[in-house]
Formats: sequence, structure tokens, C-alpha cells
Amino acid sequence: MADGRGELQVLDDPDQVRSAVRAARRQGKRVGCVPTMGALHEGHLSLIRAARAECDFVVVTIFVNPTQFGPNEDFDKYPRPLEADLAACRKEGVDVVFHPAVEAMYPAGSKTFVEVEGLSTIWEGACRPGHFRGVATIVTKLLNVTEPDVAYFGQKDYQQQLLIRQMCRDLLLPVRIRVCPTVREPDGLAMSSRNAYLSPEERRSALALSQALFLARDRLAQGERDLPAIRQAMRDHLESQPNVRVDYVTICHPETLEELEEPLPRMVALVAARVNETRLIDNLLLET
Ligand code: AMP
Repeated sequence: MADGRGELQVLDDPDQVRSAVRAARRQGKRVGCVPTMGALHEGHLSLIRAARAECDFVVVTIFVNPTQFGPNEDFDKYPRPLEADLAACRKEGVDVVFHPAVEAMYPAGSKTFVEVEGLSTIWEGACRPGHFRGVATIVTKLLNVTEPDVAYFGQKDYQQQLLIRQMCRDLLLPVRIRVCPTVREPDGLAMSSRNAYLSPEERRSALALSQALFLARDRLAQGERDLPAIRQAMRDHLESQPNVRVDYVTICHPETLEELEEPLPRMVALVAARVNETRLIDNLLLET
């Protein structure tokens, strides 16, 4: 190719990915990895573009990881539009897509899991027991296979990026973690592969998540400092929408995720709610 970039390689074998990455590194290339579950949207593409801008060799992983889904969650129906995802990766100049089978990531008889204490049992972790154990385990495996210099994650999954940063520090993993801002639809809805499940009516209700976050930001900007009152207003807004059930609404410390009673200069608001059967999360960093 004119720009010196090769064709997209689509690999399902961890050894082949490792060889391709090591060959790139021998040429002095800086390697970036973007872990995803596929059904790529502009949020994912923003991570790929950040990797493309900062690295010379970009690996995107597409793997719907069974261990991070609970028994009654949407693992089976999670969207898997592989051809469209590969076309998007080709267009973005990705070098390798790693798309393994479940058996490749969890060899028969697997008994080893990664647990991050504390962060994995609150908020998202409390609602989805075992979820973060699955996330920490698969991210460790994907980093082991792709050996990137930099790995890219979205702020959209705020608790997840905190947990992954903690895990990489604790396990002395030789990788830099970059967190990219949440990409939203023009009306504010955070992009998510699960938005595809929403009917037009549910889509309208789903808008309440981002609206609740913006409500908190606006109240703080107007000088309101009563965090319990702001949380209640966020919850009331969510619960005023048809078919919305709130899992949690909180304003907390941006690193520990401890719920706050008094404002800090930097905080994070987290929301999780179901719109009928579709579970959605969103968050916003807040400043006072
Ligand atoms: P997923 O495929 O949902 O596991 O997401 C893969 C990566 O993309 C994770 O690091 C997510 O945080 C990130 N991501 C998902 N949605 C968005 C979004 N709307 N904006 C930015 N990053 C996102």
C-alpha cells in the first residue's frame, strides 16, 4: 500500500497473534491494543483512532467473553456482526484483528482467574456478581497474547477502567493504559453495542441516563452542593420514564468510588438502569 501499511490480518490463534506482534516490535514499531466485544460503533472507533495516532501497529481484539456474563444475561444474544466489524477495522487501518474461539481463551480445564479486590464488588460488581472477575481475567489474557505497549479503554465503562488500571499496577504488567472519553449520540445517549436492543420507545427512555448525569452537572454549576438531593433528583428523573428500573445512581470519589455526602473538586456520577430487558450504564466526571 502507498502508505506502507499492510493488509488487515484476521487471526484466531493466539500464537499467530504473538508472532505478528513480535515481528512488528522487532521492526521498532510501537504496539497498541484495543480490546472489544465487537459490534463496533463510534465509541470503539475512537479508541482505534487513538491507537492509530499513537502507535505503529494496532491490534483490535473481538471476543464476547463468556465469563463476564451472568447466567441470566445476554451472552447468547449479544450482537456479533463480524463482517461489518472487519470492514470497519480495515477502513481504520487496523493491522490485526484477533477473534479467538472461546476454547482458545479458556483451554479445557482452565482453573485460573484474576480477582481485583474491593473495586470488583461495589456498584457494577454488586449488580453483576463475577462480572469483574471475568473482565480482569480476559483482559489479562488478551494483554498476554497481544503484548501491547499501550492498551485503550473507554471512560464509558468507568469502573472497568479503574479496575484494569489497578490490576496492571498490582500485577506489574508492562503496559500503559489509555482511557478515552465517552462518545455520545447527538442527543446525549452514550454509544453502546446494547443500544441495538432498544425499540424507538425504549430509546427515548434510555435518554434519561445521560439526562440524569447532565442534571447533576447543571445543578453543581448552579451552586447546589447537597449531593443527596442531587442524587434523588437524578433518580426521580430516571424513574419518571416509562419502563426504566434503576440499579444505582451515585456520586462518588473518582478513584475509590466511595459514595460522597459532601462535594469534592472532582467526582464521578455513575448510573445503571434497565429499560425493560436492556441494562445500560453511563457516567460523567463532575467538577466543583
Ligand atoms: P465493549 O465492546 O463494550 O466491551 O467495549 C470495548 C471498549 O470500548 C471498552 O473499553 C469500552 O469502554 C469502550 N467503549 C464502549 N462504548 C464506548 C463509548 N460510547 N465511548 C468510548 N468508549 C467506549
